[in-house]
Order: sequence, then structure tokens, then C-alpha cells
Amino acid sequence: MGENICSPCAMCCSGNLFSRVPIEAKEQAVLDDRANVFMHKGNMRMSLPCQLLKSNGDCSVYENRPGGCQSYRCDLLRKLDSDAVSGEVALDIIEEAKTCVARLKSDISKALPESMALDFEQPIYRVVHGMRDARKMYPDLLNSFWADQAELHFSILIDIVRANFEENYLK
Ligand code: SF4
Ligand code: SF4
Repeated sequence: MGENICSPCAMCCSGNLFSRVPIEAKEQAVLDDRANVFMHKGNMRMSLPCQLLKSNGDCSVYENRPGGCQSYRCDLLRKLDSDAVSGEVALDIIEEAKTCVARLKSDISKALPESMALDFEQPIYRVVHGMRDARKMYPDLLNSFWADQAELHFSILIDIVRANFEENYLK
């Protein structure tokens, strides 16, 4: 992760952009067992949100992080590198994206009854899919106002991510 904006962001580690990152066996060997590694179509992957991410947004295995983590640079970071965007503007965009994620999670919590609470320790798009499935199956049990709010904030998040982080987000 880059030094200036990545710690306050951590969008690519926290399951808000991706659900997994490529990893090789030799890279897994130097990580501790908090890393959730699995096989996908014959390739090794580490699931996100990453269990190696510290609460302050730093990577707890920074020196030994997988090559996929080392090489990844989102659009925003590349724009910062080329001075196409200032650090201040980049941090504002990150704040906007994270606020949108927080609102989305809050909406979903309010939309669902306690008995149907979803696990937020999974990629954000899966949480949204979980809410949509619940809405289809048990429409009378959901609070439709908050479910609609969640859909609104998810569409805003998609726009923010596509405009600033990942053009192909969710494609
Ligand atoms: S999404 Fe971009 S700015 Fe954010 S942590 Fe990842 S590389 Fe850094
Ligand atoms: S290993 Fe570090 S850089 Fe890679 S996803 Fe986890 S927290 Fe992020």
C-alpha cells in the first residue's frame, strides 16, 4: 500500500472493492494463520476483508504482503502519483467512499430484523446480495424504506468506485 493515502483508505483490503487477492504458496508460507487462503479454479487466493488488516488501516504483514497486494494500485493512487489529483482531494474522495460504505451497512442493519442479521465480515457486494435475497424471500419482514436507502447508497458507492478506484468494479 502507498504511504500517503492507503492507510486511511484500505478499500482494496477491506472487501469494499474485491472479494479476494491472488497469493502464491511461498507467500502464504510467510503469513500467519489469520490469512484466509483458499483454492479457486486451481489457483490460490486470500479472501477479503483481509484478516491481516489492522484497525488503523495499516497492513500487519506489510514487509511480507503478497505480490498481488504490492503491485496493486487503484486509479486514485495512480492519479496521485502523476499529480492528476492532490492528496487533499484524494483523501476527500476516500472519505466520501468510506462514509457511503458506513451508511450502506447502517441501512442494511436497519432494513433487516435481528433474526436475519447479515455477516458484515464479507465483501460489501455480498452483503447487499444477502439483503436482496432476504427481500425477495421475506418481503414483509424487511423495512422497505431502509432497504431502498441501502440500494441508493450502494448505487452511489458503485459510481464513486468506478469514477475513482476501479473502472470495472462489479463487472
Ligand atoms: S484502494 Fe487505492 S488508495 Fe485505497 S488502499 Fe487500495 S491502492 Fe491505496
Ligand atoms: S495482506 Fe496486507 S496489503 Fe494485502 S490485503 Fe491484507 S492487509 Fe491488505
